[in-house]
Amino acid sequence: MTDRAKLLQSFMGRVAARNAGQDEFLQAVGEVAFDVLTVEKAHAAWARARVLERLTEPDRIIGFRVVWENDDGEVEINSGWRVQTSNAIGPYKGGLRFSPGVCPSVLKFLGFEQVFKNALTGLPLGGGKGGADFDPRGRSEAEIMRFCQAFMTELARYIGPDEDVPAGDINVGPREIGYLFGAYKRLRGQFHGALTGKGEAFGGSALRVEATGYGLVYFVEAMLAEEGRELARRRVAISGKGNVAAHAAEKAICEGAKVVTLSDRSGTLVAEDGMGQDALDWVRERKQAGQDVADPPRGLGLAFREGVAPWGLVEAEIGLPCATQNEIDAKAAKSAMDAGLRVLAEGANMPLTRDAMEALREAGVGYAPGKATNAGGVAISGLEMSQNSSIRPLDPEDVDRALRRIMGEIHNRAAEEGRDGNRIDYRRGANVAAYRKVATAIAAYGVL
Ligand code: GLU
Repeated sequence: MTDRAKLLQSFMGRVAARNAGQDEFLQAVGEVAFDVLTVEKAHAAWARARVLERLTEPDRIIGFRVVWENDDGEVEINSGWRVQTSNAIGPYKGGLRFSPGVCPSVLKFLGFEQVFKNALTGLPLGGGKGGADFDPRGRSEAEIMRFCQAFMTELARYIGPDEDVPAGDINVGPREIGYLFGAYKRLRGQFHGALTGKGEAFGGSALRVEATGYGLVYFVEAMLAEEGRELARRRVAISGKGNVAAHAAEKAICEGAKVVTLSDRSGTLVAEDGMGQDALDWVRERKQAGQDVADPPRGLGLAFREGVAPWGLVEAEIGLPCATQNEIDAKAAKSAMDAGLRVLAEGANMPLTRDAMEALREAGVGYAPGKATNAGGVAISGLEMSQNSSIRPLDPEDVDRALRRIMGEIHNRAAEEGRDGNRIDYRRGANVAAYRKVATAIAAYGVL
């Protein structure tokens, strides 16, 4: 066994003993540990401080009951959490997710990833994540509002602009942030930037909604530019139909690429010749109405393939998984490669299983991890925080320029650390660059 393998085995043994059965969390830690432990070991102060192991234990996990009344006057009970992973380089920062699968293991993995992602943006943002096991599908507008208000009744005491600044994530968009911020403001009697992703009329930043998807495309353009290539005319397969997927599709089309798929749990929409804005508008309407995409109208150039994911369905050189964790396994990765995949950049958080990642690596497919590629959303959240505290909103053009610049810088940080001969290991680069920043802070604070 190599020294690296031994180091990893004993580290993961300790982390697994403390987190038995928390599969997503152990997967996320294992990926970072593989790249970072040798860097930690080579730096005496970081090794002594046991920085990475400390980061595997969140600063705290707040759990609470959410009780609310549905439209039939019945009492409903959900569980809510906020995982405050690390505030080593800034206030806790990360989204809220409402979905039946939300549980401490998933939030711990997302909070852990967020620490690294936020460090990569170059902004002073710590990491955390939260949410509830609430399924908003089929709920009325009034039910969503009451749920958000009940959720904030408890969360409000743990957040604040210098303390913890939540934002949206899956099923928490501008509408939910509006209800959550309204409830926060009422409970605390203060108007300040304790949440990001707000509407522009009440402190939100231009382009916050678009930022994750647009930023993903800017990152892909930076990756292609490394090889002297550009995005225009390339075929792009995208999974998901939510905020990240829809805006990545919009930006890719605007940059001249052909978006050949979008998807949801019902199946995949295929546009052999690339989607137009009218197809995107229809998908967005469907999402807003809480309906799936199973019956595209004629005339939009869309075919529907029931019950299958986009990978390998249609020829595509670039893959952007934008749905959820572990959506691509080794078999799906292989199908995508058979259909021409050469570059894969993650819009979702950890959409690839370990085996899928290995399959891409062996085949030499360019791969970039979500903590680098989907950091555009949280980066613009950081700009929203600074616009709130300086009371100076920025124009959309300024925000877009800042987003492109920040994504370029994240790309360069990851590329610099990850350069290996004439290829770039973006995963290693992103993990190591982010770790160095956080480790410097943690070691400076002493034993806490
Ligand atoms: N939920 C987004 C993410 O995964 C955004 C978080 C934020 O803006 O705080 O990065």
